[in-house]
Amino acid sequence: MTTYAFPPHAIPTVPVEDQGGGSGVVFPVRRILCVGRNYAAHRREMGGDDRDPPFFFAKPADAIVPEPTKAPYPPATTDLHHEIELVVALKGGGANLTPQQALEAVFGYAVGVDLTRRDLQAQAKAKGQPWEAAKAFDASAPISAIRIMAAPPPGAAVTLSVNGVERQRGQVGDMIWNIAEVIAKASELWTLAAGDLIFTGTPEGVGAVVRGDTIVGEVEGVGRLEFTLV
Ligand code: MN
Repeated sequence: MTTYAFPPHAIPTVPVEDQGGGSGVVFPVRRILCVGRNYAAHRREMGGDDRDPPFFFAKPADAIVPEPTKAPYPPATTDLHHEIELVVALKGGGANLTPQQALEAVFGYAVGVDLTRRDLQAQAKAKGQPWEAAKAFDASAPISAIRIMAAPPPGAAVTLSVNGVERQRGQVGDMIWNIAEVIAKASELWTLAAGDLIFTGTPEGVGAVVRGDTIVGEVEGVGRLEFTLV
């Protein structure tokens, strides 16, 4: 019997939806991996070279804000950006997965926003410093319920609006690494497991938001989330 020095933290969870809606089941989050520059047009808007492959970074599990209606505007930034992303939720894992094994490890899909302190990211890039302060801050990962479903088709729209004005529009098929490749490549670097979430990257159109803005993110056939920055 383990004796904790103080009560252990609760495991972060995300509600699960089956075809009929809410299921009463929650998904326990283990890790959050994110893909950077997985859409060519976004890579260009961030000043990237067209030959640079996508790459991974991470957020802590407790960065998620499940089914938010509000999310806090974080400290230490004056340039908070939205990035709408398809999120893959895993029910299995392993290392060095084939694309087929990768798809078999999928539990379901969700819609997430990779909130980014762009000013801190620019400073980190300029100095060759790590990205945690820019990407892995508190409440930096608002996420919809996870839907148990097959992979969304390549034509599924990935969109985000701010105060009713569309800012981002892409489709799942625009990803440089597709869903199976994202999972397989992650499994070359980490042993994946049930409970892992992977944010798969954002299309072009990222931009700043301020307190009071209402953000609506949607992946067609997967879900929608709407929250206000407070
Ligand atoms: Mn992102």
